[in-house]
Amino acid sequence: MNWHRSAWKVWAFILFVGLGQALSAQVIIRKKGSTGTDGDFATRPKLVVGIVVDQMRFDYLSRFWDRFGDEGFRRIIGDGFICRNHHFGYAPTSTGPGHASVYTGTTPSMHGVIGNNWFDKDSGAEVYCAGDTLQTSVGTLSDAGQNSPHRMLVSTITDQLRLHHQMRSKVIAVALKDRGAVLPGGHLANAAYWFEGGKDGNWISSSYYMEELPDWVREFNESDAAEAYKRVWEPLEDINTYAESGLDNTSYEGLIDGEQVPIFPHDLPALWEENGEFGLLRITPFGNSLTLDFALKALRNEKLGMDLITDFLAISFSSTDYVGHFYGVNSKEIQDTYMRLDRDLARLLKALDQQVGEDGYTLFLTADHGAGHVATYLKDLGIPGGALEQGQMQKKFMEFLEYTYGTTDLIRNMSNSQLFLDHELLRNLELDTGDVQDVLAEELMGYEGIYKVYTARQMMNAEFLEGIPSILQNGYNQKRSGDLTIVLSPSVNQYSRTGSTHGTPYVYDTHVPLLFYGKGIRHGELYRRTHIRDIAPTLSALLGIAFPNGATGSPIPEVLK
Ligand SMILES: [Zn+2]
Repeated sequence: MNWHRSAWKVWAFILFVGLGQALSAQVIIRKKGSTGTDGDFATRPKLVVGIVVDQMRFDYLSRFWDRFGDEGFRRIIGDGFICRNHHFGYAPTSTGPGHASVYTGTTPSMHGVIGNNWFDKDSGAEVYCAGDTLQTSVGTLSDAGQNSPHRMLVSTITDQLRLHHQMRSKVIAVALKDRGAVLPGGHLANAAYWFEGGKDGNWISSSYYMEELPDWVREFNESDAAEAYKRVWEPLEDINTYAESGLDNTSYEGLIDGEQVPIFPHDLPALWEENGEFGLLRITPFGNSLTLDFALKALRNEKLGMDLITDFLAISFSSTDYVGHFYGVNSKEIQDTYMRLDRDLARLLKALDQQVGEDGYTLFLTADHGAGHVATYLKDLGIPGGALEQGQMQKKFMEFLEYTYGTTDLIRNMSNSQLFLDHELLRNLELDTGDVQDVLAEELMGYEGIYKVYTARQMMNAEFLEGIPSILQNGYNQKRSGDLTIVLSPSVNQYSRTGSTHGTPYVYDTHVPLLFYGKGIRHGELYRRTHIRDIAPTLSALLGIAFPNGATGSPIPEVLK
């Protein structure tokens, strides 16, 4: 039972027919009036750049706005489109489901990526969302490249682009985290690359995509590109001006092994050996900068966006997530990380202008989930909540099982806030599965810190249209999910006394930015609620290609010219 590892870690195909007809009518009208070129889709960009910023809350945009330069976030929003009320319409809000949902235009109930890891009912083993033991690593002797998207059950926008253009579109996906590259790349990506860290600091891949790394990747790995970031992490600007964040030295932040206090400067060379060598770059903004360096190498060497067939470059910036988990959303470290990300975005836009041309590409930026304040910080301020006493709760629950059923064995697994029952044992004991679900739900509802409990029977027999049950249902996959889903109170977590986490159906985890910029995109803003599952259908509409095959979202018409 992996209660201690991850238990309690909270965590209509609207086929666009009506809207589609309306849009295509517009297209025809414009064509007849010969005022535009939409009818033959000549507005399609030469390159789509998809950016997922790992753990980016929406309010980071406003909180750090005064610290951004003119060429990054301000350029994207100043000329592009911002959806201000953009949400994950499902839980668990975590990285694997987030990336899968952005790119498939649907939710875990459909695409099947119900967590980063989950308990596989068939094999009885824990599986990893992007893991694939049938593959071999490329570019490393370790198993860090044994990945593929095979557990994502539907197609992605990147797959549809490749299908539409008879595989002549190039799709390249890049991230520090393997799942941040593998899932966006889809099933048909030309390549996905991720960062191994460790002694060599190499970018690697999987036999799913290739037999060996291309020359430009080998050259990048052999260069001192990663080594260049083995340096002291100083604040980008005078730290005394970082008024948008809390104190630098608080007990709500994690401590890197070898550091006495969690404050700037962070001397990476001095901490290097003790903290996984190149892996240490992950919890600094340098991990993002290195990701961009590598993505720009891909842009140039794969000649993306240089002909009329649309290509796709998917970039995920993962360091924001590591920094958030380690230091928390209110830290000066997170502020510095976003100020630096802004400079990296400026660098990306400049490179795209140069290679593809200012009117040649379309870009979107979103997140894979948000994050909450450090629960103990809120508690100290007087906001109800804090860390869950999971040890005591587990003990009480086990005693209840023993007393009621004479055994604790009927729980097969607890993970991702879900509880999996042993259905075979229930049959042998002549217990009705639904009845046991109800009894356990009632018991758990009596525990402090638990806000709601839903049973699989409820999830299967009802259709929830709004609120938390609807969010849970969109994350509930009938084949893969468990018998009970538990929701903690909004400011309770079981994560840690330090750092931030995510995974819940609450707004702090669901509200993230959605920005569009470039070819085919209007300038404007939207306060209407939009969903992560709408991104891929919006891109499909822009590109004039089919929706991903499980899409449940709809295009956001306000975004498109
Ligand atoms: Zn994430």
